[in-house]
Amino acid sequence: MPHDHADAPHALLPSDPALRVKTLETVLARKGLIDPAALDEIIDIYQNRIGPSNGARVVARAWSDPVFKEQLLADADPVLAGLDYYGRQGEHMVVVENTPLQHNMVVCTLCSCYPWPLLGIPPGWYKSDAYRARAVREPRKVLSDFGVTLPEGTSVRVWDSTAEVRYLVLPMRPEGTEGLSEDALTELVSRDSMIGMDIPKVFA
Ligand code: FE
Repeated sequence: MPHDHADAPHALLPSDPALRVKTLETVLARKGLIDPAALDEIIDIYQNRIGPSNGARVVARAWSDPVFKEQLLADADPVLAGLDYYGRQGEHMVVVENTPLQHNMVVCTLCSCYPWPLLGIPPGWYKSDAYRARAVREPRKVLSDFGVTLPEGTSVRVWDSTAEVRYLVLPMRPEGTEGLSEDALTELVSRDSMIGMDIPKVFA
């Protein structure tokens, strides 16, 4: 199966996502199939401790080190494994570079495949039906809803994630950041910019 989850049982659950998750959690915990404390721990690790900071470090390093960038774009897996940014939901990574000619954005049209080891837990909008349907059909409009307006000459390429391949967008390094250290650059890299839905900016 190219994706992680089947849809059939979902119809039996309430429609609000948070309520559905809570209901599932309760049922599974009652059956003794999950330990709620372990679940909280996993969520905390991905949301707060890993989160998108690993991805931001990778981007800042690529901005600072041309050899690293070349290796990352050519074959990301060994580079990321070398940094220990490897694991569940990030088994095969492809890094796509934004340029003045091409802007990249990432979606999972079937469900919510996402590079967990680099970006943490996917945001709600990434999993929404609206984003998954519209990202492919009208990417520029979706970008503009996110406040991203691209120059006329920039084409948009949409990458559809699967369980087998996850994408990370390497945004363009903002102008005026020549003197910044890698740590300082990391601060400029938002989660959404690594999905292609934000442009890193320098705030004066
Ligand atoms: Fe998916």
